[in-house]
Amino acid sequence: MKDLSCIFCKISSGKIPSAKIYEDEEFFAFLDIKPINSGHALLIPKKHSVNLYKITDEVFARMAPVIKKLAVAVKKAVSADGINIGMNNDPAAGQLVFHTHIHIIPRYSEDGFKHWRGKRAYKDGEINQVAEKIKQTIWH
Ligand code: AMP
Ligand code: ZN
Repeated sequence: MKDLSCIFCKISSGKIPSAKIYEDEEFFAFLDIKPINSGHALLIPKKHSVNLYKITDEVFARMAPVIKKLAVAVKKAVSADGINIGMNNDPAAGQLVFHTHIHIIPRYSEDGFKHWRGKRAYKDGEINQVAEKIKQTIWH
């Protein structure tokens, strides 16, 4: 159930202190210690899983309404103009902590935090080939 070496397992079991904002039987949420903006929160399942590929469909589905509940509360509490929901999976995508977590990030019109920009255009016809490859992978 818990991975004893995992920092987020230690946080959800209270072994390491955190600024908790929410807890139920299955989930735990707390503030990120290095926030993009004040109120930046992390939602985790209490049961250890590494990331999106390993969390069960059932637990992930039950997480969705909690994400929504917290996003609405964070936005209101810190009077944000918007909210980003984020999830980093694998080191190449910026994952630093290997326990499934969702970032709930309050945003302001002028906060200077830049989104990624499209870096390259598809070559002629390439977009359809890539779409086809992904569609085939979904069903195999
Ligand atoms: P990620 O890059 O998606 O794996 O994000 C991990 C996040 O966990 C980072 O934004 C860290 O600032 C945050 N973090 C790491 N340790 C703690 C901690 N002890 N308490 C709160 N947030 C943490
Ligand atoms: Zn863990």
